[in-house]
Amino acid sequence: MVKFCPECGGDLKLDPSTKNFICKSCGLYASREKMDELRNKSEINYEDHKKRIREDYLDWWQASKKDKQKI
Ligand SMILES: [Zn+2]
Repeated sequence: MVKFCPECGGDLKLDPSTKNFICKSCGLYASREKMDELRNKSEINYEDHKKRIREDYLDWWQASKKDKQKI
């Protein structure tokens, strides 16, 4: 059951006549399937983001090791 907006995390309201969801915060209007799709996409982006942070950290760590060797 979709409860929160995948775009802004706001409360979603079900429109019973169209079976679509409306975000009370940003006004996003989409079907349940579309909401799931958007949510999956944002989870994938989040995983990418975490991976990128880890790689940045590794780069930094390797760079700082090199600096130490120079000294
Ligand atoms: Zn929203």
